[in-house]
Amino acid sequence: MKVLVIGSGGREHALVWKIRQSPVVKKIYCAPGNGGIAGMAECVPIEAGDIDGLLAFARSEKIDLTVVGPEDPLSRGIVDIFEAAGLKVFGASRKAAELEASKSFAKDLMMRHGIPTARGETFTSYKKAEAFVRKIGAPVVVKADGLAAGKGVIVCATEKEALEALKTIMVDRAFGDAGSRAVVEECLTGEEASFLAFTDGKTVLPLPSSQDHKPVYDDDKGPNTGGMGAYSPAPVIDRYMHERIMQEIMIPTVRAMAAEGRPYKGVLYAGLMIDRDRIRVLEFNARFGDPEAQPLLMRMKNDIVPVMEAVIEGRLDKCRLDIDDRATVCVVMASGGYPGTYKKGIPISGLESVGRMKDVFVFHAGTRADEKGGIAASGGRVLGVTAIGDTVKEAITRAYKAAAKISWKDAHFRKDIGMKALKRFEAAPRVGIIMGSDSDLGVMEGAVAMLKKFGISYEMTVASAHRSPEKAVAFAGGARARGMQVIIAGAGHAAHLAGVLAAHTTLPVIGVPIDSSCLQGMDALLSTVQMPPGIPVATVSIGKPGARNAGILAAQMIALSDPGVAALLEAFKADMAREVDAKSEKLAKFV
Ligand code: AMP
Repeated sequence: MKVLVIGSGGREHALVWKIRQSPVVKKIYCAPGNGGIAGMAECVPIEAGDIDGLLAFARSEKIDLTVVGPEDPLSRGIVDIFEAAGLKVFGASRKAAELEASKSFAKDLMMRHGIPTARGETFTSYKKAEAFVRKIGAPVVVKADGLAAGKGVIVCATEKEALEALKTIMVDRAFGDAGSRAVVEECLTGEEASFLAFTDGKTVLPLPSSQDHKPVYDDDKGPNTGGMGAYSPAPVIDRYMHERIMQEIMIPTVRAMAAEGRPYKGVLYAGLMIDRDRIRVLEFNARFGDPEAQPLLMRMKNDIVPVMEAVIEGRLDKCRLDIDDRATVCVVMASGGYPGTYKKGIPISGLESVGRMKDVFVFHAGTRADEKGGIAASGGRVLGVTAIGDTVKEAITRAYKAAAKISWKDAHFRKDIGMKALKRFEAAPRVGIIMGSDSDLGVMEGAVAMLKKFGISYEMTVASAHRSPEKAVAFAGGARARGMQVIIAGAGHAAHLAGVLAAHTTLPVIGVPIDSSCLQGMDALLSTVQMPPGIPVATVSIGKPGARNAGILAAQMIALSDPGVAALLEAFKADMAREVDAKSEKLAKFV
């Protein structure tokens, strides 16, 4: 099979690297490629934007599969053009790629289909946009509607900045026609994460979570770049959030696009803002992210080619992804001056020595072969030093060890890639959720939902009072020393788990009786509630409502010494009261 990859960045190097591992692939071309890609594919000097040139090449070389990396050719319809010519191509069609190419289209689609995003409006008139900014005030985000190489989004701390941003985009047309419309939206806070999935327009097959680092300097300071590094997994997206993102964002978006006559095939990328239990979409991209592709593709164990073919042929329901459990981290090394102006042609040293390192791969972005047979920096982002490790910490150490061996004049890179993940992984869980069987997970997620709402860290595990009592005892015995403040235990049948835990800790234990036997939870309720004197277990109602109440009760215990959680509980109570009032008003009208 002959494959053509379109693009020249780190993402395309990662794609070529991954595709080359496929036993069905005999030859790979990359247009135009870079100095690193040249070592594993034949680079052809056709720019990614030259659709006619690419089509002619694919036809003359009888390419079996074309994979499109960047957004520009996708938004200009390269997939439609190749398909019309009878060529197999992986990527979003022009109408599907509008999800990335027009922020107003994406915003309106999300509004129409109830997909959570920042509240905002689209304007074609500067005057109206100005009036809107004055009405909603700062902070506010102003976005050029069209593609602007990642530079068309301006987060404004003051009204003055927002009006200047509107002028830059709509009047001065700093991003050309991309600024003929502008989106003005509320400024969201929280932690950003990227969620990518393969989709054939029906089935959504998620990749693991990841996180990009846009600002150029450590601690997210300085101007935005194309991305200074990425890692996977992103712990802000745990199992519970992953499922919600699938149900509330990814699947509804793919369905919405199909319903509107824009079937989406390819990679769908959602840029998300996550704030405790709130998930909102900041943007969609119609392709792999760069640099997220590097750590993600390093974790993907499957042959990628059959997955891409299944996407094209609408057979993704027959596929599954096999993901490496280990973590990956990509540190981007950039030219001095980037994201401003920088010099080109500076020789890079140290690549051979890193090439001998295990579990590290250096993906090239802005590089080219120099006259002396070496590699020279020829772009802003130059290399993506990517490592795999048993933990994020190990992957970070390995990636930085490799980056330290590579140098060229004025090269720079962030020193804190992956630190947010590390902080989350290392933060002590304040609540331990323990259940008798993994089949109790659906119920116990009620507690997770509540803890998320109040921003309380938790740990979840399975241990049985009868089948693995040592594990349950060890968990309870070590919980206080590990920083836990409350334990929530869910179990069905003659549920002794909460009691066993309570016998081995002085932390408060809340028991959730689970309805998993023919006695419909009555057995679990009685064995949880009827504890012997001296060993109390707080007992809530049976099943998921009980698990939710257990989460709230745990938050109330923590709020005794945490004013932040106390304030969130107040707001939660006020919201509930408002909901009841709204229902009663509705009923009054009906009666
Ligand atoms: P986008 O291309 O829309 O993802 O925007 C680029 C960056 O701007 C994002 O990664 C965020 O850091 C920031 N951003 C975009 N929209 C918002 C928003 N509504 N609130 C806060 N930050 C935002």
